[in-house]
Amino acid sequence: MSETTPMMKQYQDIKKKNKDSILFFRLGDFYEMFRDDAVEVSSLLNLTLTKRHNIPMCGIPYHAAEGYIGRLLKYGKKIAICEQVSMPTDGKGIAKREIVEVITPGTITNENYLNQKENNYIVVIGYFSTSLSLAFADLSTGEFQSTSFRIEDGLEVLRKELQRINPSEVIVQDNINEIFPGINALLSSRPNLVINRYPDWQFDKESCYKTLIEHFSIINLKAFNLNESSPEVISAGVLISYLEDTSKSHLRHIRTLKTYSHHQFLVMDDSTQRNLELIRNLTTGDQAFTLLKVLDQTKTAMGGRLLKKWILSPLIDQSEIEKRHDNVQYFYQHQLLLSKIRDQLSKIQDIERLTTRVAMDKAHGKDLLALSNSLINIRSCEPTLEEYNKYINFWTNDEANVKKIDSLGALLSNSIHPEPSILTTEGRLIKEGYSSEVDELRQLQNNAKVVLNNYLSEQKLESGITGLKLKYNKILGYFFEVTNSNLQAVPEHFERRQQLVNAERYVTSRLKELENNIHNAGERLIELEKKLFYEIREKCKDCIDILQQISQSIGEVDYFQSMAYIATRRGYIRPEITNSRTLNIDGGRHPVVEEALPSNEFIPNGISLDPDKKSFAMITGPNMAGKSTFLRQIALISIMAQIGSFVPASKAQIGIIDKIFCRVGASDNLAKGESTFLVEMSETAHILRNSTNHSLIIMDEVGRGTSTNDGLSIAWAICEYIIDKIDAKSLFATHYHELTLLKSKKIQNLSMDVKETGEDIVFLKKIKKGPAGNSYGIHVAKLAGIPLEVVYRATQILNEIGDTDSKINIPDKNNSGIQSGLFSPEELISKELAGMNLNNMTPIQALNLLHRWKNEHNL
Ligand code: ATP
Repeated sequence: MSETTPMMKQYQDIKKKNKDSILFFRLGDFYEMFRDDAVEVSSLLNLTLTKRHNIPMCGIPYHAAEGYIGRLLKYGKKIAICEQVSMPTDGKGIAKREIVEVITPGTITNENYLNQKENNYIVVIGYFSTSLSLAFADLSTGEFQSTSFRIEDGLEVLRKELQRINPSEVIVQDNINEIFPGINALLSSRPNLVINRYPDWQFDKESCYKTLIEHFSIINLKAFNLNESSPEVISAGVLISYLEDTSKSHLRHIRTLKTYSHHQFLVMDDSTQRNLELIRNLTTGDQAFTLLKVLDQTKTAMGGRLLKKWILSPLIDQSEIEKRHDNVQYFYQHQLLLSKIRDQLSKIQDIERLTTRVAMDKAHGKDLLALSNSLINIRSCEPTLEEYNKYINFWTNDEANVKKIDSLGALLSNSIHPEPSILTTEGRLIKEGYSSEVDELRQLQNNAKVVLNNYLSEQKLESGITGLKLKYNKILGYFFEVTNSNLQAVPEHFERRQQLVNAERYVTSRLKELENNIHNAGERLIELEKKLFYEIREKCKDCIDILQQISQSIGEVDYFQSMAYIATRRGYIRPEITNSRTLNIDGGRHPVVEEALPSNEFIPNGISLDPDKKSFAMITGPNMAGKSTFLRQIALISIMAQIGSFVPASKAQIGIIDKIFCRVGASDNLAKGESTFLVEMSETAHILRNSTNHSLIIMDEVGRGTSTNDGLSIAWAICEYIIDKIDAKSLFATHYHELTLLKSKKIQNLSMDVKETGEDIVFLKKIKKGPAGNSYGIHVAKLAGIPLEVVYRATQILNEIGDTDSKINIPDKNNSGIQSGLFSPEELISKELAGMNLNNMTPIQALNLLHRWKNEHNL
């Protein structure tokens, strides 16, 4: 096979049009890869690389391709599948080959490569006039949405949208970085994102509009709130073209385009989402110990996907949030129904993705059987949900839909083989009793003798020739033999074929047909089953829109039952949602920490943040006292309330929050050339610039990444700015005890309570009014197993230098100059005294304390 063979020429022509994909070139029973593709794939998948006529090549058996494709997708590769579509009729020349599908990480529909409880999105980003246009779709479910934002806040909103959508592939207009500098950097900062750059001409408004109109077979886009000049049209049009192009089919399961505004959702940036461990934990990056894991009591794939999507998109509309709470409450108050529906939902498979596979002609026998069983189980949910149906707009509210689904259910349960093959080339697709032709062929194939004997008995009875014999030879095939004494009884439809001395041989047209059938039964059966299967699959397509509605209803019911179930199990309560700016939580718990601790060991804590009174909580307390847990739990409870969940508290009143910012601890981003402190300051800058007086700001240990003086000064100024300029509800945890001296009527000083008993310290994990007295850092170091020698030395040094950062000069905010003096000793001593329990102090400890104060403050 040299470069100049017709087949190699054919390969080159096809490869030229699919340069960015790995070309799986079908040769007999193998997919072969050549040249660079072969070199790359052999090294990625550990395959043997061979050479023919100096052309590097490697191959995989076609029936094992699925596994290899899955692995290549994980490496972010695109794969173009090139099949032999027809053989030369005269037996000369080469097979005609065509690309039948391009599989990319963002366009997967095969369930083996997808995570059941996660959507897999592809995003298109383009621009039009002064707007950024964004569309995204999950080809495996048919979801398709589009939005646009103003040029001024384009990049910031885009960052948040990408965080929320979390696509695996993106198509971006080639020169977009010139219009929106920073987009390229933003995209390449997202790990595992496959980026395709498309030339500007593909983002042409007219052709995108036409693509959408043709796809939806409508005359304009008014139904989607769009017109010719809506920016959304561009990205949505490019996305449909791309999906049709790669899948090589018309995507009839993408039946609607939902346009939305990013203002509909509570805003969380990526560090907030990360720090709150909503869907991935900070330690291993998986779902263990996350809010998603705790709340996920869903029973279906649809419910699981919806839960993840809604956790990342909390609402900000009071009535929408309350509607979700009403639904949760319904199941919560009907516990019998709750346990019944959980049981029924667990029998429903992923009909949303099954529907897609039907629409794209990819559903195999097992898919249709799964659909069939799911439809039966869905119908059996109906009586359970009868009352509930009146409550939300469930699909069964429409009689016509119910009829259509019932007849589809009947068709599938009557027609699909109970143990179907996943291939269409080996039979076992059609159920017994559905087609008499299939039954007969199958009977013939399995039981040729019985069929012939039955026919013989039939003919004996009809002719009255009891001695009629059925025989076979190579020349005549099957024939009847009649002895001379019975010749007068031979029926008219017997055709004489041979005369012997004492007998004659006959055939009938039916006998010839049976013979033919017996010989060809296998092949004919396969062909007939395939034909009938395709017909049934085609009929399923009439129900695509209802199946999608059902999927959505099932997903929502599953979401609400999951929320009701966890609320029941964990004692969550329905929060009160208000449009005020007040946040009141009594007896709040951290949903994830609580779940990880033995029952009843979590100490509940509350907070009240009222912008008209005290909206800023300054939280001090020793290490290990539970500050970070408390901070995060307030944010998590607010998010839970706004996604429609009940919350872990004894009482919660949540004034709707527009944005949550959570800046916790110190981390660096060395890959991006950012030090720990730079990351900390960038995130803080982002918060100060983007928060509003309806936002919730959570800051833990801000300013720790630099020297004490710098850090304290920055932290102090940040607090002042938040209180005076932003007026957002805020929780600020710090080890800078000096910050508790910050004076503002908006500040409340809180601390985590600690009990000292002699040498021992017990962290009570209880929030209390007033600042903390001590840091107990050395105590925690001892608990952590730092060698005692180091602990003693640290104690000695602390006694020398004091445990406050008192040598720091804090400027008065109303004073433009830097104050030269220290905090007054009276202030520092009274602060420390406030946090002490004198009843627990021995006379020696009291004397030591006086001694220390005398030294520290030069008294
Ligand atoms: P540091 O200042 O060292 O970061 P911290 O004050 O932020 O400490 P956390 O990390 O919040 O303390 O809590 C320490 C541990 O205490 C947590 O891992 C958790 O298991 C437990 N904890 C926190 N809050 C509570 C609570 N309210 N009830 C029971 N256990 C708690």
